[in-house]
Amino acid sequence: MTGRFKVGEVVDITIKGVRINNEDADGIVTVLADNPLGATTRYEMPPQAAIERVGPAEWPPQPGDLWRDQRGGLWFAADIHDVDETDVPEIVMVWTHEDYRLRPDLLNQRSGPLTLVHREELADEPKCRLCGCTETNPCEGGCRRVDDPQTLGALCSSHLVEAQHLEPGQVVRHQAWHGGHRVRIDRVFAWEAGQVSVFYQDTTAYYPLVEVHVAADLPVLLDGGAR
Ligand SMILES: [Zn+2]
Ligand SMILES: [Zn+2]
Repeated sequence: MTGRFKVGEVVDITIKGVRINNEDADGIVTVLADNPLGATTRYEMPPQAAIERVGPAEWPPQPGDLWRDQRGGLWFAADIHDVDETDVPEIVMVWTHEDYRLRPDLLNQRSGPLTLVHREELADEPKCRLCGCTETNPCEGGCRRVDDPQTLGALCSSHLVEAQHLEPGQVVRHQAWHGGHRVRIDRVFAWEAGQVSVFYQDTTAYYPLVEVHVAADLPVLLDGGAR
């Protein structure tokens, strides 16, 4: 005990927004939640736990989704904020039978669990040319869209490192280095304000070491070697 509670004290415990991991034959539910170290861990709930349905695995609905409720009714997810041109989507579920609208959470409580029938692949959403991730389906741990230093297509931030964070042994590409071919980083150190000095060599070590002075935040494409 850390001193906040006394043995035998009576408490209510609330856990919000965790995902179901399993429900066994006896109805014992395990959930996934972060442990104190930040890793996802399974926790078994006692039989007394009151478990309320919030949403299915694909929750929350995305604009353009088609969902089916428990009675077989079909619902369209529409973003009603489009007209206001705000960035924050405000999703309502529209019954396909007649124009009847409900908030997703309310619909799911009343007629859930909802099941996803169709989710549109956003055709105009660029896929990272190296890992295929998209904005709505990013890399594990998160990533963002970045400008491709080689301008070969869409790219995500997982593959770029700033020049100042390069490590000896890393194999990288930059369009201005060795004709855009792969080079191995030898060492990097701070130069004038906002600049770093990078020593690199072609991966076959055929040519001598090259030193360049570049902006500390110059994006460089990772292409293998030590991390
Ligand atoms: Zn990527
Ligand atoms: Zn990514």
